[in-house]
Amino acid sequence: MKIKKQQSEQLYEIAKKLMPGGVNSPVRSFKSVGGIPHFIKKGNGPFIYDEDGNEFLDFTGSWGPLILGHSNPKIISAIKEALDDGTTFGAPTKKENILAQLVIDAVPSIEKVRFVNSGTEATMSAVRLARGYTNRDIIIKFEGCYHGHADFFLSKAGSGLATLGQPSSPGIPKAVVESTITVNFNDINAVEKIFENNPNKIAAVILEPICGNMGVVKPKSDFLKDLRKLCNRYGSILIFDEVMTGFRVSYGGAQELLNVIPDLTTLGKIIGGGLPVGAYGGKKEIMSKIAPEGSIYQAGTLSGNPIAMAGGISTLMELKSKGFYDSLEKSVKYLSNGFREIAKEHKIPLIVNQYGSMVGLFFTNLEVNNFEDVLNTKIDIYNSMHGYFLNNNIYLPPSAYEAFFISNSHKINHFDKVLKIFKEFCKSI
Ligand SMILES: *Cc1c(COP(=O)(O)O)cnc(C)c1O
Repeated sequence: MKIKKQQSEQLYEIAKKLMPGGVNSPVRSFKSVGGIPHFIKKGNGPFIYDEDGNEFLDFTGSWGPLILGHSNPKIISAIKEALDDGTTFGAPTKKENILAQLVIDAVPSIEKVRFVNSGTEATMSAVRLARGYTNRDIIIKFEGCYHGHADFFLSKAGSGLATLGQPSSPGIPKAVVESTITVNFNDINAVEKIFENNPNKIAAVILEPICGNMGVVKPKSDFLKDLRKLCNRYGSILIFDEVMTGFRVSYGGAQELLNVIPDLTTLGKIIGGGLPVGAYGGKKEIMSKIAPEGSIYQAGTLSGNPIAMAGGISTLMELKSKGFYDSLEKSVKYLSNGFREIAKEHKIPLIVNQYGSMVGLFFTNLEVNNFEDVLNTKIDIYNSMHGYFLNNNIYLPPSAYEAFFISNSHKINHFDKVLKIFKEFCKSI
């Protein structure tokens, strides 16, 4: 084994004494793939470097934000420039207007926007807004979609269709998840039944329009359009959680790509360019209900702070340049087609789901339409692939349920290396 681990091992031992599991977000711990997390010292373009001096070709991009690669010079200099004027004022700044205008121009459903500090805050606030606006309590969500860690999202399906939800984590009052109904992704009939049984009670339907938190799962052809129709018919708010897909699958997100317009949209990850930013936005009529314009309360001491705004503005300015998404997708297709061909050659069952620069691998021959299907894929193959790649200086997401996030700093020669290692891996199993 050529990968050195001594420093990371020592740091991990210390970290575990200081922080739960040694990490500040669970999936970083490598618990699902085995091994120990590498402690990262710096990043540059498509590469990250750990404390032992190992170089890895990175396919996590900090779980989505870094579509322009690590330490992109334009973003770093925009952030440095903003820093010279101070870090936060708790008063409005011009930069908030600039990023708001960029987001409104980009995302079809957004006429007004509110910035927050994370994706979790964005989805949590969007649901409060939907509930306040409709004066209803129940939300419908889908198994396998992730919307952050607010109480009412940490709920799993009850024993029967449209029954009360069950908490999926200790610490969550039953009463809170009783107004969350969880349905299988892509199951429009189940959603329709719930609406029929609760005609005036559903505040919102929230989903990832392209699901990237159970691997990459595509919506069936009319699924989003049918959800749109049901929400219209029953006066419910359709929320697209585009924290991952926003500015990732296209400049206007999944809603632009798939041409279905929700009432509210949540954003995060890329809009902060690597700094903590989230946002929610939508129709003026709905957004005007948020305080101080309206009575639905939501606030944030550091929300819209100038450093985070500078990260977002400089990122979006780059993404706006002509042909950015086409050329990125073209290069990503080279990788995803390569995976498919090599797997086929070696008779390894593999489905590669790719949207823009988001790629998900499922080791199976069967269609993957929902979380149950994902559980039936061969996750153990992904886990051994993760270890095999890590030993060859390629850093894949340390979980079979996560997408690969590719940046414009990943080039064909990097993909050739990945495909060469993939071929060796296929031979080895
Ligand atoms: C990452 C993610 C979130 C949560 O965002 P955080 O910034 O981690 O709180 C919410 N929804 C989706 C779709 C995500 O991918």
